[in-house]
Amino acid sequence: MPSDGHAYAEARRHALRALLASADLSALLVTKPANVRYLTGFTGSYGALLLLHDRTLFFTDGRYRHQAATEVPGTEVVLAPGDLIGAVGGVVRAGGNDLGFEPAGLTWGEGNRLRTGLPGQAVLPAPPLVEELREVKDERELTAMREAARLGGEALEGVLPGLREGVTERQVAVDLEVAMRRLGADGPAFDTIVAFGEQAAEPHHHPGDRPLETGDWIKLDFGARVDGYCADMTRTAVLGHASQRQRDLYELVHGAQAAGLDRLEAGVPAGEVDRACRQPITEAGLGDSFPHPTGHGIGLEIHEAPRLRAGSRDRIAAGTPVTVEPGVYLPGFGGVRIEDLAVARPGGHELLTTTPKELLEL
Ligand code: ZN
Ligand code: ZN
Repeated sequence: MPSDGHAYAEARRHALRALLASADLSALLVTKPANVRYLTGFTGSYGALLLLHDRTLFFTDGRYRHQAATEVPGTEVVLAPGDLIGAVGGVVRAGGNDLGFEPAGLTWGEGNRLRTGLPGQAVLPAPPLVEELREVKDERELTAMREAARLGGEALEGVLPGLREGVTERQVAVDLEVAMRRLGADGPAFDTIVAFGEQAAEPHHHPGDRPLETGDWIKLDFGARVDGYCADMTRTAVLGHASQRQRDLYELVHGAQAAGLDRLEAGVPAGEVDRACRQPITEAGLGDSFPHPTGHGIGLEIHEAPRLRAGSRDRIAAGTPVTVEPGVYLPGFGGVRIEDLAVARPGGHELLTTTPKELLEL
Protein backbone atom coordinates (compact mmCIF):
# COMPACT_ATOMS: atom_id res chain seq x y z
CA MET A 1 0.00 0.00 0.00
CA PRO A 2 1.57 3.36 -0.97
CA SER A 3 1.81 6.09 1.66
CA ASP A 4 -1.70 7.52 1.19
CA GLY A 5 -2.92 3.94 1.70
CA HIS A 6 -1.33 3.91 5.16
CA ALA A 7 -3.41 6.94 6.07
CA TYR A 8 -6.57 5.08 4.99
CA ALA A 9 -5.61 2.03 7.05
CA GLU A 10 -4.93 4.16 10.09
CA ALA A 11 -8.23 6.01 9.75
CA ARG A 12 -10.02 2.64 9.53
CA ARG A 13 -8.35 1.39 12.71
CA HIS A 14 -9.34 4.64 14.39
CA ALA A 15 -12.98 4.12 13.35
CA LEU A 16 -12.83 0.52 14.55
CA ARG A 17 -11.61 1.61 17.99
CA ALA A 18 -14.71 3.79 18.32
CA LEU A 19 -16.91 0.79 17.45
CA LEU A 20 -15.04 -1.37 19.97
CA ALA A 21 -15.80 1.06 22.72
CA SER A 22 -19.50 1.07 21.84
CA ALA A 23 -19.48 -2.76 21.79
CA ASP A 24 -17.87 -2.78 25.27
CA LEU A 25 -14.79 -4.56 24.05
CA SER A 26 -11.37 -3.50 25.30
CA ALA A 27 -9.44 -5.60 22.77
CA LEU A 28 -10.12 -7.23 19.41
CA LEU A 29 -8.18 -9.92 17.58
CA VAL A 30 -8.70 -9.60 13.81
CA THR A 31 -7.85 -12.77 11.87
CA LYS A 32 -10.18 -12.82 8.84
CA PRO A 33 -7.78 -12.16 5.93
CA ALA A 34 -10.02 -9.57 4.22
CA ASN A 35 -10.43 -7.69 7.52
CA VAL A 36 -6.68 -7.79 8.20
CA ARG A 37 -6.01 -6.42 4.72
CA TYR A 38 -8.63 -3.72 5.14
CA LEU A 39 -7.19 -2.51 8.44
CA THR A 40 -3.51 -2.77 7.55
CA GLY A 41 -2.98 -3.04 3.79
CA PHE A 42 -1.08 -6.27 4.40
CA THR A 43 -1.33 -8.60 1.40
CA GLY A 44 0.52 -11.66 2.75
CA SER A 45 -1.11 -14.94 3.76
CA TYR A 46 -0.23 -14.98 7.48
CA GLY A 47 -1.14 -11.93 9.48
CA ALA A 48 -3.34 -11.00 12.41
CA LEU A 49 -4.06 -7.69 14.07
CA LEU A 50 -4.56 -7.18 17.78
CA LEU A 51 -6.11 -3.88 18.79
CA LEU A 52 -5.74 -2.90 22.43
CA HIS A 53 -6.89 0.51 23.61
CA ASP A 54 -3.34 1.88 23.62
CA ARG A 55 -1.42 -0.53 21.36
CA THR A 56 -1.74 -2.02 17.89
CA LEU A 57 0.13 -5.26 17.29
CA PHE A 58 0.58 -7.03 14.00
CA PHE A 59 1.45 -10.73 14.16
CA THR A 60 3.12 -12.46 11.24
CA ASP A 61 6.03 -14.81 10.62
CA GLY A 62 9.61 -14.49 9.36
CA ARG A 63 8.62 -14.73 5.68
CA TYR A 64 6.83 -11.41 5.99
CA ARG A 65 9.29 -9.59 8.27
CA HIS A 66 10.21 -7.04 5.57
CA GLN A 67 6.80 -6.88 3.92
CA ALA A 68 5.19 -6.19 7.30
CA ALA A 69 7.65 -3.41 8.05
CA THR A 70 6.79 -1.56 4.81
CA GLU A 71 3.11 -2.49 4.44
CA VAL A 72 2.01 -2.14 8.05
CA PRO A 73 3.71 0.88 9.63
CA GLY A 74 2.27 2.30 12.81
CA THR A 75 1.98 -1.13 14.44
CA GLU A 76 4.26 -3.22 16.63
CA VAL A 77 5.25 -6.15 14.41
CA VAL A 78 5.48 -9.44 16.35
CA LEU A 79 6.95 -12.52 14.68
CA ALA A 80 4.91 -15.52 15.84
CA PRO A 81 5.90 -18.40 13.59
CA GLY A 82 3.39 -21.21 13.84
CA ASP A 83 1.80 -20.14 17.13
CA LEU A 84 -0.39 -17.10 16.70
CA ILE A 85 -2.72 -18.10 19.53
CA GLY A 86 0.12 -18.54 22.01
CA ALA A 87 1.64 -15.17 21.09
CA VAL A 88 -1.69 -13.32 21.28
CA GLY A 89 -2.50 -15.01 24.59
CA GLY A 90 0.81 -13.82 26.05
CA VAL A 91 0.13 -10.18 25.19
CA VAL A 92 -3.50 -10.21 26.32
CA ARG A 93 -2.71 -12.06 29.56
CA ALA A 94 -0.12 -9.46 30.48
CA GLY A 95 -2.55 -6.58 29.80
CA GLY A 96 -5.45 -8.17 31.68
CA ASN A 97 -7.86 -7.25 28.85
CA ASP A 98 -11.11 -8.83 27.88
CA LEU A 99 -10.74 -10.03 24.30
CA GLY A 100 -13.11 -10.18 21.35
CA PHE A 101 -12.28 -12.49 18.47
CA GLU A 102 -13.79 -13.04 15.02
CA PRO A 103 -15.71 -16.33 15.16
CA ALA A 104 -15.41 -16.74 11.37
CA GLY A 105 -11.66 -16.05 11.52
CA LEU A 106 -10.57 -18.80 13.92
CA THR A 107 -11.09 -22.55 14.03
CA TRP A 108 -13.07 -23.97 16.91
CA GLY A 109 -9.84 -25.41 18.31
CA GLU A 110 -8.05 -22.06 18.15
CA GLY A 111 -10.94 -20.31 19.87
CA ASN A 112 -10.84 -22.89 22.65
CA ARG A 113 -7.09 -22.53 23.11
CA LEU A 114 -7.47 -18.78 23.31
CA ARG A 115 -10.11 -19.21 26.05
CA THR A 116 -8.26 -21.77 28.12
CA GLY A 117 -5.04 -19.73 27.84
CA LEU A 118 -6.72 -16.71 29.43
CA PRO A 119 -8.35 -18.01 32.61
CA GLY A 120 -10.27 -15.33 34.45
CA GLN A 121 -10.38 -13.05 31.39
CA ALA A 122 -13.44 -12.82 29.13
CA VAL A 123 -12.84 -14.16 25.61
CA LEU A 124 -15.91 -13.46 23.48
CA PRO A 125 -17.01 -13.78 19.88
CA ALA A 126 -17.14 -10.19 18.58
CA PRO A 127 -19.94 -8.84 16.37
CA PRO A 128 -18.92 -8.25 12.71
CA LEU A 129 -17.56 -4.75 13.38
CA VAL A 130 -14.98 -4.68 10.59
CA GLU A 131 -17.54 -6.01 8.10
CA GLU A 132 -19.79 -3.10 9.12
CA LEU A 133 -17.02 -0.63 8.41
CA ARG A 134 -16.26 -2.28 5.09
CA GLU A 135 -19.79 -1.87 3.76
CA VAL A 136 -19.36 1.77 2.67
CA LYS A 137 -16.35 2.17 0.39
CA ASP A 138 -14.04 5.15 0.15
CA GLU A 139 -13.00 6.64 -3.18
CA ARG A 140 -9.79 4.65 -3.24
CA GLU A 141 -11.73 1.39 -2.99
CA LEU A 142 -14.30 2.51 -5.55
CA THR A 143 -11.53 3.38 -7.99
CA ALA A 144 -10.27 -0.21 -7.80
CA MET A 145 -13.78 -1.58 -8.25
CA ARG A 146 -14.50 0.74 -11.18
CA GLU A 147 -11.34 -0.54 -12.83
CA ALA A 148 -12.22 -4.18 -12.05
CA ALA A 149 -15.67 -3.70 -13.62
CA ARG A 150 -14.19 -2.00 -16.67
CA LEU A 151 -11.64 -4.81 -17.18
CA GLY A 152 -14.42 -7.40 -16.97
CA GLY A 153 -16.39 -5.65 -19.71
CA GLU A 154 -13.32 -5.38 -21.90
CA ALA A 155 -12.47 -9.06 -21.34
CA LEU A 156 -16.01 -10.00 -22.40
CA GLU A 157 -15.70 -8.01 -25.63
CA GLY A 158 -12.47 -9.84 -26.30
CA VAL A 159 -13.98 -13.32 -26.00
CA LEU A 160 -17.24 -12.67 -27.93
CA PRO A 161 -15.70 -13.54 -31.34
CA GLY A 162 -14.69 -16.94 -29.90
CA LEU A 163 -18.28 -17.85 -29.06
CA ARG A 164 -18.81 -20.16 -32.04
CA GLU A 165 -20.30 -23.64 -32.49
CA GLY A 166 -18.18 -26.33 -30.87
CA VAL A 167 -16.37 -24.24 -28.26
CA THR A 168 -16.90 -25.65 -24.75
CA GLU A 169 -18.00 -23.92 -21.56
CA ARG A 170 -14.65 -24.69 -19.99
CA GLN A 171 -12.72 -23.11 -22.89
CA VAL A 172 -14.74 -19.93 -22.67
CA ALA A 173 -14.24 -19.75 -18.89
CA VAL A 174 -10.48 -20.08 -19.32
CA ASP A 175 -10.46 -17.48 -22.12
CA LEU A 176 -12.33 -14.98 -19.95
CA GLU A 177 -9.99 -15.49 -17.01
CA VAL A 178 -6.87 -15.18 -19.17
CA ALA A 179 -8.29 -12.04 -20.83
CA MET A 180 -8.88 -10.42 -17.43
CA ARG A 181 -5.32 -11.17 -16.32
CA ARG A 182 -3.88 -9.87 -19.61
CA LEU A 183 -5.77 -6.62 -19.14
CA GLY A 184 -4.17 -6.16 -15.73
CA ALA A 185 -6.45 -7.85 -13.21
CA ASP A 186 -4.92 -9.60 -10.15
CA GLY A 187 -7.00 -12.54 -11.38
CA PRO A 188 -10.65 -13.60 -11.41
CA ALA A 189 -12.67 -12.53 -8.37
CA PHE A 190 -14.32 -15.99 -8.27
CA ASP A 191 -14.62 -19.11 -10.41
CA THR A 192 -16.10 -18.04 -13.74
CA ILE A 193 -19.54 -19.45 -14.54
CA VAL A 194 -20.22 -20.35 -18.17
CA ALA A 195 -23.43 -22.22 -19.01
CA PHE A 196 -24.68 -23.17 -22.46
CA GLY A 197 -28.20 -24.10 -23.57
CA GLU A 198 -30.40 -25.87 -21.04
CA GLN A 199 -27.53 -25.73 -18.50
CA ALA A 200 -28.26 -22.00 -18.13
CA ALA A 201 -31.19 -23.18 -15.97
CA GLU A 202 -28.72 -23.84 -13.18
CA PRO A 203 -28.01 -20.57 -11.35
CA HIS A 204 -24.41 -21.57 -10.50
CA HIS A 205 -23.44 -24.05 -13.17
CA HIS A 206 -19.85 -25.31 -13.13
CA PRO A 207 -18.41 -25.06 -16.68
CA GLY A 208 -17.94 -28.44 -18.35
CA ASP A 209 -17.34 -29.94 -21.76
CA ARG A 210 -20.73 -29.11 -23.28
CA PRO A 211 -20.06 -27.71 -26.79
CA LEU A 212 -21.92 -24.62 -27.95
CA GLU A 213 -24.67 -25.12 -30.54
CA THR A 214 -26.72 -22.69 -32.60
CA GLY A 215 -29.78 -21.53 -30.70
CA ASP A 216 -28.11 -22.06 -27.29
CA TRP A 217 -28.28 -19.69 -24.38
CA ILE A 218 -24.85 -18.45 -23.32
CA LYS A 219 -24.77 -17.35 -19.68
CA LEU A 220 -21.53 -15.79 -18.42
CA ASP A 221 -21.06 -14.75 -14.77
CA PHE A 222 -17.59 -13.51 -13.95
CA GLY A 223 -15.55 -10.68 -12.51
CA ALA A 224 -12.03 -9.33 -12.24
CA ARG A 225 -10.13 -8.52 -9.05
CA VAL A 226 -8.05 -5.33 -8.95
CA ASP A 227 -5.95 -4.28 -5.92
CA GLY A 228 -7.83 -6.95 -3.98
CA TYR A 229 -11.29 -5.59 -4.92
CA CYS A 230 -13.87 -7.69 -6.78
CA ALA A 231 -16.23 -6.94 -9.63
CA ASP A 232 -19.12 -9.20 -10.59
CA MET A 233 -21.29 -9.21 -13.73
CA THR A 234 -23.56 -11.56 -15.66
CA ARG A 235 -24.65 -11.36 -19.27
CA THR A 236 -26.84 -13.83 -21.15
CA ALA A 237 -26.67 -14.09 -24.95
CA VAL A 238 -27.93 -16.47 -27.65
CA LEU A 239 -25.87 -18.10 -30.40
CA GLY A 240 -27.69 -17.24 -33.64
CA HIS A 241 -31.30 -16.01 -33.78
CA ALA A 242 -33.19 -16.05 -30.52
CA SER A 243 -36.57 -17.81 -30.54
CA GLN A 244 -39.65 -15.83 -29.49
CA ARG A 245 -39.69 -17.72 -26.18
CA GLN A 246 -36.04 -16.82 -25.55
CA ARG A 247 -36.71 -13.20 -26.45
CA ASP A 248 -39.72 -13.01 -24.10
CA LEU A 249 -37.82 -14.50 -21.17
CA TYR A 250 -34.88 -12.19 -21.80
CA GLU A 251 -37.08 -9.09 -21.92
CA LEU A 252 -38.83 -10.11 -18.69
CA VAL A 253 -35.51 -10.35 -16.81
CA HIS A 254 -34.14 -7.24 -18.52
CA GLY A 255 -37.18 -5.25 -17.36
CA ALA A 256 -36.93 -6.67 -13.84
CA GLN A 257 -33.26 -5.74 -13.61
CA ALA A 258 -34.01 -2.19 -14.80
CA ALA A 259 -36.79 -1.89 -12.20
CA GLY A 260 -34.37 -2.96 -9.45
CA LEU A 261 -31.68 -0.50 -10.54
CA ASP A 262 -34.33 2.23 -10.67
CA ARG A 263 -34.97 1.77 -6.94
CA LEU A 264 -31.28 1.74 -6.02
CA GLU A 265 -30.27 4.90 -4.20
CA ALA A 266 -28.67 5.82 -0.90
CA GLY A 267 -30.96 5.09 2.04
CA VAL A 268 -33.27 2.61 0.33
CA PRO A 269 -34.01 -0.60 2.29
CA ALA A 270 -32.27 -3.54 0.56
CA GLY A 271 -35.57 -5.44 0.49
CA GLU A 272 -37.15 -2.76 -1.68
CA VAL A 273 -34.65 -3.26 -4.48
CA ASP A 274 -35.37 -6.98 -4.22
CA ARG A 275 -39.12 -6.34 -4.36
CA ALA A 276 -38.81 -4.08 -7.42
CA CYS A 277 -36.88 -6.82 -9.28
CA ARG A 278 -39.17 -9.61 -8.16
CA GLN A 279 -42.51 -7.97 -8.91
CA PRO A 280 -42.57 -8.23 -12.74
CA ILE A 281 -41.26 -11.81 -12.56
CA THR A 282 -43.93 -12.78 -10.03
CA GLU A 283 -46.61 -11.05 -12.12
CA ALA A 284 -45.50 -13.16 -15.09
CA GLY A 285 -46.19 -16.26 -12.97
CA LEU A 286 -42.49 -17.12 -12.67
CA GLY A 287 -41.83 -16.06 -9.07
CA ASP A 288 -40.76 -19.59 -8.09
CA SER A 289 -38.20 -19.60 -10.92
CA PHE A 290 -36.25 -16.69 -9.33
CA PRO A 291 -34.87 -18.63 -6.37
CA HIS A 292 -32.07 -16.38 -5.11
CA PRO A 293 -31.74 -12.92 -3.54
CA THR A 294 -31.54 -9.96 -5.94
CA GLY A 295 -27.98 -9.04 -5.07
CA HIS A 296 -25.20 -8.57 -2.55
CA GLY A 297 -22.63 -6.13 -1.30
CA ILE A 298 -19.14 -6.67 -2.70
CA GLY A 299 -15.60 -5.44 -2.07
CA LEU A 300 -12.53 -7.30 -0.82
CA GLU A 301 -14.85 -10.33 -0.77
CA ILE A 302 -17.27 -11.31 -3.49
CA HIS A 303 -20.23 -11.55 -1.08
CA GLU A 304 -20.46 -8.88 1.59
CA ALA A 305 -23.16 -7.03 3.48
CA PRO A 306 -25.74 -5.85 2.63
CA ARG A 307 -27.72 -8.74 1.13
CA LEU A 308 -30.51 -7.61 -1.19
CA ARG A 309 -33.05 -10.15 -0.05
CA ALA A 310 -36.82 -10.17 0.38
CA GLY A 311 -37.97 -8.25 3.42
CA SER A 312 -34.56 -6.85 4.37
CA ARG A 313 -34.84 -3.46 6.08
CA ASP A 314 -31.08 -2.87 6.03
CA ARG A 315 -30.59 0.46 4.36
CA ILE A 316 -28.08 0.74 1.56
CA ALA A 317 -25.80 3.62 2.53
CA ALA A 318 -24.27 6.10 0.09
CA GLY A 319 -21.00 4.73 -1.29
CA THR A 320 -22.05 1.08 -0.97
CA PRO A 321 -21.48 -1.06 -4.07
CA VAL A 322 -24.03 -3.81 -4.62
CA THR A 323 -24.99 -6.16 -7.43
CA VAL A 324 -28.47 -6.23 -8.96
CA GLU A 325 -28.91 -9.66 -10.53
CA PRO A 326 -32.38 -11.09 -11.03
CA GLY A 327 -32.61 -14.39 -12.88
CA VAL A 328 -35.27 -16.77 -14.14
CA TYR A 329 -34.35 -20.44 -14.55
CA LEU A 330 -36.53 -22.94 -16.39
CA PRO A 331 -35.33 -26.57 -16.25
CA GLY A 332 -34.98 -28.09 -19.72
CA PHE A 333 -35.15 -24.69 -21.41
CA GLY A 334 -32.40 -22.61 -19.85
CA GLY A 335 -32.29 -19.38 -17.96
CA VAL A 336 -31.44 -15.70 -18.02
CA ARG A 337 -29.59 -13.66 -15.44
CA ILE A 338 -28.49 -10.06 -15.92
CA GLU A 339 -26.14 -8.66 -13.29
CA ASP A 340 -24.65 -5.21 -12.88
CA LEU A 341 -22.44 -3.71 -10.22
CA ALA A 342 -23.58 -0.29 -9.02
CA VAL A 343 -22.79 2.12 -6.18
CA ALA A 344 -25.64 3.69 -4.21
CA ARG A 345 -25.50 7.49 -4.36
CA PRO A 346 -27.83 10.17 -3.02
CA GLY A 347 -30.88 10.17 -5.30
CA GLY A 348 -29.61 7.38 -7.56
CA HIS A 349 -26.62 5.22 -8.29
CA GLU A 350 -23.41 5.01 -10.27
CA LEU A 351 -23.36 2.05 -12.62
CA LEU A 352 -19.89 0.45 -12.70
CA THR A 353 -20.78 -2.24 -15.27
CA THR A 354 -20.87 -0.56 -18.66
CA THR A 355 -21.58 -3.53 -20.99
CA PRO A 356 -24.92 -3.04 -22.85
CA LYS A 357 -27.89 -5.16 -21.84
CA GLU A 358 -29.85 -5.59 -25.07
CA LEU A 359 -30.18 -9.26 -26.01
CA LEU A 360 -26.99 -10.20 -27.81
CA GLU A 361 -27.50 -12.60 -30.76
CA LEU A 362 -24.07 -13.78 -31.81
ZN1 ZN B 1 -22.12 -12.82 -10.56
ZN1 ZN C 1 -23.19 -11.61 -7.82
